[in-house]
Amino acid sequence: MSTPTRITHLIAGEAWSGTAERTSEVFNPATGEVTGVLDLASTDLVGEVVATARQAWEGWADTSLAKRTQVLFTFRELLERNKKEIAALITAEHGKVLDDALGEVTRGLEVAEFACGIPHLLRGGFSENASTNVDVYSMRQPLGVVAVISPFNFPAMVPMWFIPIAIACGNAVVLKPSEKDPSAAIAIAKLWSEAGLPAGVMNVVNGDKEAVDALLTHPDIKAVSFVGSTPIAHYVYDTGTAHGKRVQALGGAKNHMLVLPDADLDLAADAAVNSGFGSAGERCMAISALVAVEPIADELVEKIKDRMGKLRTGDGTKGCDMGPLVTRAHRDKVAGYVDAGLEQGATLVVDGRDDEFDGGADGFFLGPTLFDNVGRDMTIYQDEIFGPVLSVVRVQSYDEGLELINANPYGNGTAIFTNDGGAARRFQRQVEVGMVGVNVPIPVPVSYYSFGGWKNSLFGDTHAHGMEGVHFFTRGKVVTSRWLDPSHGGLNLGFPQNT
Ligand code: NAD
Repeated sequence: MSTPTRITHLIAGEAWSGTAERTSEVFNPATGEVTGVLDLASTDLVGEVVATARQAWEGWADTSLAKRTQVLFTFRELLERNKKEIAALITAEHGKVLDDALGEVTRGLEVAEFACGIPHLLRGGFSENASTNVDVYSMRQPLGVVAVISPFNFPAMVPMWFIPIAIACGNAVVLKPSEKDPSAAIAIAKLWSEAGLPAGVMNVVNGDKEAVDALLTHPDIKAVSFVGSTPIAHYVYDTGTAHGKRVQALGGAKNHMLVLPDADLDLAADAAVNSGFGSAGERCMAISALVAVEPIADELVEKIKDRMGKLRTGDGTKGCDMGPLVTRAHRDKVAGYVDAGLEQGATLVVDGRDDEFDGGADGFFLGPTLFDNVGRDMTIYQDEIFGPVLSVVRVQSYDEGLELINANPYGNGTAIFTNDGGAARRFQRQVEVGMVGVNVPIPVPVSYYSFGGWKNSLFGDTHAHGMEGVHFFTRGKVVTSRWLDPSHGGLNLGFPQNT
C-alpha cells in the first residue's frame, strides 16, 4: 500500500503551504485504499482566498475581450492535450470507467469552446436616435468574485459548466470541489495559469460545510453556482440569497423513462441499461424509474435482464462496463435500498449485491440491480438512490405514466420512447421536467443550450451554461446618451418623454 498524497488548495496558481487544522481522506473506490489526504479550509482561509480573488478581479475585469479570448483558446487547447490524464484522475478517485471519465472531460471542454465566443455573446444592443439626438445602448458587466461548489459525481464537467463562462465574462472564481474527488478539478485549475490567466483569477479551496458556509456568507462573493443533493441545494439557495447573492443551486433527481407500447423495445432496453447503470447510476441524469405502458412490460424486462447479464463490474481502468460506488458508506446505503425494495414487495429480477467484481477485494462495488412491479409508495421509487438500481413501474396508459412523472417532486430529466411523433410532441409539451429526451435517454443539453431541471431539481431562476450562463455571470446596464448640440438647452422639470 502506497503512502497517501497530500492534496491541498490552489491559491493564485500556487499550492497552499500552510498546515491544515482538519483533513479528510480520499479513496480509490476500486481498491478501498486511502490514496489522498485532503486539507480542509477554515473560515479564515476562505476569507484570505476571497481577498486574493477580489484583488485579481479588478485587473481581469478591465482586460480586453481580445485578451480574455486568447486565454480561453489557450486553455481549451491545454485541456484537450491533458484530457487523458484528467480522466485518469477522475477514475482513480470517483471510480467511473475511463471512457466515461473521458466523455465527462469532453463535455466540460465543450463549455470552454462555447466561452471562446465571448465577444459575440457579450455584445449589447444599440438604438440610434431613440429620442431626438438620444442614443440608447446596453452592455453586460462582470459581477466580481463568484463561487462554484460542485458534487462528487462529475468532478470535472460540473465545475466546467460554470468556470469558463464566469472567467470569460470577466469574473474571478473560487471553486470548492467535492471533498471526495477533488484532484481532477485542481488539475484543470492549474491549466488556467498555464493558459496565461492572471494569478488569483482562478482559485480552489477544498473543504466541507465550514468552507461552503464561509463562501455563502462572505460579502465579496457576488454569486454562487452550486450543484449537489436537493437538501443541500435548498440550504445553499436560502443562505446565499439571504446574504444578498445571486444563486443557482442545482439539486437531485429522479428521472423517468416512459416507454409506450409502440416503441422499439430493443432500443428502449439498450437505453435503459446504458442510462440506468452508466457511471454506476451516479449521474443526475441517470434513468432510475422505467415507466412501462402495458402490455409491453414483461417483454421489456426480459430484454433488460438479458443485457444486464453481459455487464462486467470492476476497476474502471480494466475495461469494465461499470465501476464501483464512490465510498463504502454510499455503497452500503444503496445496498440498503435493495433490502428495502424486497421488504416492501417489489420483484427483484437481478440482484447486484452478490455479483463477482473485477476489482480489489475491498472495493466499493455493487452490481447492476433490477426491480419490477415497483409501487409509487416504495422508498426505491420515492428516493433518489444514486446507484445502479433500476425500478420498473408498470402503468396502463400514457396518461397514467405522465401523471406519475408530473407528480414527482423532482424534475431534472426525462425521456419518452415511442415511434409516434404525435405522442412524443404531446409529451414534450405536457411533462413538467426541465430536460426532455425523445428516444434519447440522457438528454444533457449541448453547451450552447442551458442545463437545468424544474421543481426540486433547481433552486433559482437561471440554468447552467449557454446564454443563461452568460446572463448569470454578468449584470445588465443600459446607457441613454445625448451629445449636446447648440440647439439643446433650457430648463424642463418634467419626466423625460421620448420625442
Ligand atoms: P452533496 O450535496 O453531498 O455535495 C455537494 C457539495 O456540497 C459538495 O461540494 C459538498 O462538499 C457540499 N456539502 C455537503 N454537505 C454540505 C453541508 N451540510 N453544507 C454545505 N455544503 C455541503 O452532493 P454529492 O453527493 O456530492 O453529489 C450527488 C448529488 O448531486 C445527487 O443528489 C445528484 O443528483 C446531484 N447532482 C445534481 C446535478 C444537477 O445538474 N441537477 C448534477 C450533478 C449532481
